[in-house]
Amino acid sequence: MNGTKLDKLVSFLDAELCLSEFREDESANGLQVEGREKIRKVGLAVDACEYVFRKAAAKGIDFLLVHHGLIWGGLRTVRGVMRQRIKALLDSEISLYACHLPLDWHPQFGNNAQLLKLLSIKKMGEFGNYHGKNISYWGKTIRELSFDEFNVSVERALGTRSTAISFGRSVRNVGVVSGGGWFAIHETVKHDIDTFLTGEPSHSAYTLAEEMKVNLIFAGHYATETPGVKAVGRALKKRFGLTVEFIDHPTGL
Ligand SMILES: [Zn+2]
Repeated sequence: MNGTKLDKLVSFLDAELCLSEFREDESANGLQVEGREKIRKVGLAVDACEYVFRKAAAKGIDFLLVHHGLIWGGLRTVRGVMRQRIKALLDSEISLYACHLPLDWHPQFGNNAQLLKLLSIKKMGEFGNYHGKNISYWGKTIRELSFDEFNVSVERALGTRSTAISFGRSVRNVGVVSGGGWFAIHETVKHDIDTFLTGEPSHSAYTLAEEMKVNLIFAGHYATETPGVKAVGRALKKRFGLTVEFIDHPTGL
């Protein structure tokens, strides 16, 4: 297998992931660090960090696609941790491609669309307004579930341990926002959402949820942001016949 040229892969991803619709994202989405020209093996990870870069080099990965990249709001200096990280990539000639908000939002590959799919939730509408753009969805479970039953399905689907807080409602209408999405709790009333699922626990969300009578599930920032990169990996395998591998580096948070 001859592989795929880097620029061809980057153009495909830029277009497919609709990067141009998220110019306001703090993340410098797209190709952040340029590596070798020919791509044979693609790595997928949630976070750009030295552990992931070392693993990628050991596995012979040419192109690494991550949700949280290295460059946020512009690059000022290349020192300390940043120097080490960039050095690890350049030494092994691995390209780094980051896709942040577009990969939360994307209707097919996005973390949130994939979470709904994994949990057999039928998409009903947009949800999770973040800086003027909805990055997520809410939907209905196939039948009414008890809160415990639903939480077990979340933990199983994502291989995680949730912080699950019931405020007495059974589960039918679920709002989902991957990562640190607690801000969307304010939208739950509008859609009669009984259960709100996000990644990172928020202290502030507790009393709001209590008074809004919305169950809370914090399934982990990391765990809720693995489905997106994996879905893009499957698409790259199908489109270009590339070998893809997920590099797991859970934070437990
Ligand atoms: Zn995130």
